[in-house]
Amino acid sequence: MPELPEVETVRRGLQPVMEGARFAKVEARRSDLRWPLPKDFVARLQGKTVDGLGRRAKYLLADLSSGDVLLMHLGMSGSFRVLKGSGEKTPGNYHHERSQQLAHDHIVFHMGNGAVVTFNDPRRFGSMKIVPRAKLDQEPLLRALGPEPLGNEFDAAMLARACHGKKTSLKSALSDQRIVAGLGNIYVCEALHRALLSPKRWASTIANRSGAPNERAERLVDAIKAVLKDAIEAGGSSLRDHRRTDGEIGLFQHNFRVYDREGQPCPTRGCSGTVKRIVQGGRSTFFCPVCQK
Ligand SMILES: [Zn+2]
Repeated sequence: MPELPEVETVRRGLQPVMEGARFAKVEARRSDLRWPLPKDFVARLQGKTVDGLGRRAKYLLADLSSGDVLLMHLGMSGSFRVLKGSGEKTPGNYHHERSQQLAHDHIVFHMGNGAVVTFNDPRRFGSMKIVPRAKLDQEPLLRALGPEPLGNEFDAAMLARACHGKKTSLKSALSDQRIVAGLGNIYVCEALHRALLSPKRWASTIANRSGAPNERAERLVDAIKAVLKDAIEAGGSSLRDHRRTDGEIGLFQHNFRVYDREGQPCPTRGCSGTVKRIVQGGRSTFFCPVCQK
């Protein structure tokens, strides 16, 4: 499942071909993805210009000249391909296998600038929806989302307030989209390792009795921002490499410190621990029981 850095990398890959461009022709090759497409999906896009391509959590938001917003989610296995001139590019930084099968090309945007943007999704957990911009703040998919982890609003005071009195693990608090948006299993594990905090620690222990942040909350927020920025930077460099070679990106090599590294030595300097896997809330957690307290 793509997480926030992957979606941001996709956004940066699509931005140059979509922003400022008009949907000359839109093909919806089926009537549903995860959910049915709006009946007037093609009509509401065709002829409209993309004024901006933004992101909220793991949703891409294309602002249209009509006042509508096209919401796009990659789901589990969705990816975009961009065909422009001679080379085909796949913007992104995919942890999952990307499908090359044309049978899974469900939505095709023919942009006025000549670019062809194709959404491919074998498992069809991805989604597209059109919402009037004026009603975006009432949109159920977005309404319950907590702050963006890279935004200024997300800081130690905010996180401590959200975790104050919570009788749940830090792992599950950080995975809760209402507390912070867009973090998934991978980057929660990575951030907790960087912050040297145990995923099993009670979430409430990053705040003092009045709900003010302690030093752990500061460390955790710094680690979350750093881990996401590094991943976006790595995704960005995969885009640059791609432009240089003008070939297929291939699966991006993720450099995780603990995620999916059970039994390997802990990368923390001076730590002799071994990465352990446990299951929390039905999901694997990877951590070092020695340096993560
Ligand atoms: Zn360690």
